[in-house]
Amino acid sequence: MAGLLVKGGRVIDPATKTDAVMDLLIVDGRIAERRPSGQGKGGLPAGTKVVDAATQWVCPGLVDMHVHLREPGGEHKETIETGTKAAAAGGFTSVACMPNTDPWNDSLSVTEYIVAEARRRGVVNVYPIGCVSKGGRGEELAEIGDMVRSGAVAVSDDGLPVGNSYLLRMAMEYTKIFGIPLIDHCEDRMLSASGVMNEGYYSTVLGLKGIPAAAEEVAVGTDLALAGLTGGKLHIAHLSTRGSLEKVRRARRDGLQVTCEATPHHLVLTDQAVADSDYDPNTKMNPPLRSEEDRQALVLGLKDGTIDAIASDHAPHHLDEKLVEFDDAPFGIAGLETSVPLVLDRFVRPGVVTPARFVELMSLNPSRILGIGKGTLAIGADADVTIIDPEAERKVDVTRHQSKSRNTPFHGWTLRGWPVATIVGGRLVHELLAAATR
Ligand SMILES: [Zn+2]
Repeated sequence: MAGLLVKGGRVIDPATKTDAVMDLLIVDGRIAERRPSGQGKGGLPAGTKVVDAATQWVCPGLVDMHVHLREPGGEHKETIETGTKAAAAGGFTSVACMPNTDPWNDSLSVTEYIVAEARRRGVVNVYPIGCVSKGGRGEELAEIGDMVRSGAVAVSDDGLPVGNSYLLRMAMEYTKIFGIPLIDHCEDRMLSASGVMNEGYYSTVLGLKGIPAAAEEVAVGTDLALAGLTGGKLHIAHLSTRGSLEKVRRARRDGLQVTCEATPHHLVLTDQAVADSDYDPNTKMNPPLRSEEDRQALVLGLKDGTIDAIASDHAPHHLDEKLVEFDDAPFGIAGLETSVPLVLDRFVRPGVVTPARFVELMSLNPSRILGIGKGTLAIGADADVTIIDPEAERKVDVTRHQSKSRNTPFHGWTLRGWPVATIVGGRLVHELLAAATR
């Protein structure tokens, strides 16, 4: 493979404590050399292509550890091909996909199918997450060992909570053997019942059935107790309330191996969006958009390190499925193509998080949690690179998205800071020509 020289960008790589303008030479899919900028093409392998990254940020390829690619079984919403194209367009070089497909990814054959399809048609790296329980039913353990041997990097019943504490305990004991995390969607379904939005002032005003913060916090409490009992690695998906965050903070102080993620939508929006948008089903997700107090607590968690990762919970749905009354619409929004600009515009630009912390949240930490060896631009590392133009300003235009789905509350938002090129294994898989907007 011909070499690639990423020239003159600001290389931000917290794993090697690097933040400096330099050239990055990629050969045979790996980072071959990091050299002071402006040395010209002297000494480069013949045929080396040059990517000009002047004034741009050169980051380790971003990792989204929580996406739903819908394949197998939900191809009208998304496929591995379209989902990974959306990932590349959004600046992600790796995604981990949740098992609530049809059939659920609860056995070797489904895991193998996903791995093979990702190899055939995937544009970025795909890491399957296997089920905790067969069919996500919370009754008996899935074939965890078989799935891990076929490429699963974690287990989860996401879409649903595991729910069954006894099974959760067994799963945590079992995952310890493989050193993988158990990722839980924390929700007490008896408490959330048939709720459709956050329980609070706005659910009362709008006359919609609420989901209390406690529905999440009760489950987080159970999971933490079981992590303490078993010593297993616990990762809490899409944490959304102040109370959950406080529990994680305390558990970590007590020495538990617990990590957590938050989504851009929970960090940016509140339940007021349901009212402001006049019941737009694109403001319906699970966990629901929470109160302003919760949102502010999450932002603090980004700052102080309690939140380890930002993940999109990319949950594509077909247009027709969302074109119904709020009560009847499915939960979830597409996130892969808006995550990075939302985080850059709302949190990096105002200085809430530094560029290095941004890379930790969206590349290094998710990579470490999943144990996939990504998240760095060290010499010898896989040449997965995301180039970001911190000054590019664009409007979110969902009609131009690579994803099959259009369900986003961010259509029409003007955001500053966009991914402009995505390199996977040394291959340029997405380049935004509109970098010319500057
Ligand atoms: Zn979930």
